[in-house]
Amino acid sequence: MADPAADDGAATLARAWELSYLDPMAARAIGLRLAETGGADAAEGWLHAALVDLRLGPVEAGLQALARARAGFAASAGGPDRRGLALCDEAQAIALRRQGDYEAAAYLQAQIDARDEVDREPMHAFLAANSRAITATLRGDPGSALRLFYAAADAAGRTGWLGPRLTALCNLGDQHKALSNWEDARRLSEQALALARAAGAPQVVLTAALNLVVIHHAEGHDAQARATTEFLLTHPELLPPDALRHNPLQLALGHLCAGEIDEALGYLDGGAAVDPGDGDGMTFWAWLKARCLLARGDAAGARALGERILAQRRPSDQPNDMMALYGALADACERSGDAAAALGHLRRSQALYEELMGRGARARYIALEVSHELAQAKRERDLAVDSHRTAEDDRRRLAELNAALQAQIAETEMLHTRLREQALRDPLTGLHNRRYLFEIAPGLLELARRQSAALCVVLVDLDHFKLLNDTYGHQAGDLVLQRFSALLTQMLRRSDVVCRHGGEEFVALMPDIDAEGAQAMLRRLLDAFQAQQAELGRRRLPGCSFSAGIAVFPRHGATLEQLLSRADRGLYAAKHRGRARIEVVQTGFGTLA
Ligand code: GH3
Ligand code: MG
Ligand code: MG
Repeated sequence: MADPAADDGAATLARAWELSYLDPMAARAIGLRLAETGGADAAEGWLHAALVDLRLGPVEAGLQALARARAGFAASAGGPDRRGLALCDEAQAIALRRQGDYEAAAYLQAQIDARDEVDREPMHAFLAANSRAITATLRGDPGSALRLFYAAADAAGRTGWLGPRLTALCNLGDQHKALSNWEDARRLSEQALALARAAGAPQVVLTAALNLVVIHHAEGHDAQARATTEFLLTHPELLPPDALRHNPLQLALGHLCAGEIDEALGYLDGGAAVDPGDGDGMTFWAWLKARCLLARGDAAGARALGERILAQRRPSDQPNDMMALYGALADACERSGDAAAALGHLRRSQALYEELMGRGARARYIALEVSHELAQAKRERDLAVDSHRTAEDDRRRLAELNAALQAQIAETEMLHTRLREQALRDPLTGLHNRRYLFEIAPGLLELARRQSAALCVVLVDLDHFKLLNDTYGHQAGDLVLQRFSALLTQMLRRSDVVCRHGGEEFVALMPDIDAEGAQAMLRRLLDAFQAQQAELGRRRLPGCSFSAGIAVFPRHGATLEQLLSRADRGLYAAKHRGRARIEVVQTGFGTLA
């Protein structure tokens, strides 16, 4: 007959685990109650108290509870409780991490994995994977962290409890956000927010909503970023007490998205809001503040602020915030009339953008690969369960399984190619980007060298483009960029490589053509571009022109950098001589060709 007291204990323990990620303080209270009664479950009680304190509370108290849990498990009636002791080791690794010793935490976790070959029960597996993922993030290995967060999500699903599932969703969304994979970040954070609202889990509501403000803004959906801020401001009852006071930056961003500069500044100038010792927070704060100053027409103030923060750069700066800060600085410099500095900042911002696109694509790929692996693991499990089959059945199922696997691998590979392609293309024009240019150029130059063939590097810059933007709006500028890109693709040869170099600058690598040939081709392109009629709504846009400089390999340089810098000189000459011209770079006095 079952012992009702034992059943009761088991149910209480299950309740504590269920609550440990939904309402940690309640789980801690259950743990302490069990510990203080001193019964058979005392060690388990201390473990619960320890885990909550080590994750979220005072580490010292957590370590004391952990010592008592360990002693209890070691002296267990039926011999040392190996499962309990293994969980104590997990808690120990969390303590090391909280104390800032990430390497020691990782080392201990690797030891646990090498030693424990037993199948962990789902909650134990979730705790272990989630903890390893956080360690990986702190050690600067976001790719491994993402895989581990997926493993945690898989285990969380098997617990059947909401707390771990919500935590896993929220952490996955956060990790995709850190990797600039906005699409998955948004989807996961929205799921986490909806579930957490329904379940009443304040911490997850807060984290997911704050993340969504940043994600919507990054995706260019400013209205949604503002709406999410509104949700946070009008639903304090769904959030942990006092939560908004500690998270002013996302709120400022939401207001900024709607052009509500007073409100945004109210959060940014809150004083205690930002700890200047925090590198991440500082960069985030600085670009928001610089954007507000710019909106107020204080370009000099925005520039001074941006440069001061740049001078204090720390390795912990988030590339996304750095990109935004460079972008704000570029605007500030441009408005102060310092075009050279503006260009420098714009280039740095662009370089970070490309790096982030690459990261985002890799994160998306990991997500797909993991879902593929999970599907495969599930199929293998089904196969093992279904054990009453004849050898004939076995062979047939195996063949089917292999075919399905092949199809999935092919699909994953195709997606990988597509994602790689996306990382190498400019989203506005569909042309290749600078990253692609620099990847492909060495090979093309080497080929030209081996075949002793000519190759032209052309740098194109649209004329008076700022004026077009200022007169007809940014949308008109975007349209002209798209129309020009289409023309470039149409009118240059298939073998020419055409890229958007940044802003309104384009680069073409033209193999097997001399300077005169390239010049003639560009002249035709210029005629066509000037004749092109574009309309935006009911407004007819004026004809546009471009200027271009041409450098020839190997006469003007051996590397792409050298050739671009020479083409830039030609471009400068073309602008200087009145624009709407194509200049081949001249070898001047004292210049070595
Ligand atoms: P110049 O003839 O000397 O080249 O003058 P410009 O006005 O074309 O040159 P400038 O470098 O001063 O301005 C380039 C402008 O291009 C400024 C920037 O706002 C705009 N721009 C850069 N990227 C984009 C974009 O993606 N879309 C739009 N609409 N404008 C862009
Ligand atoms: Mg330009
Ligand atoms: Mg221009």
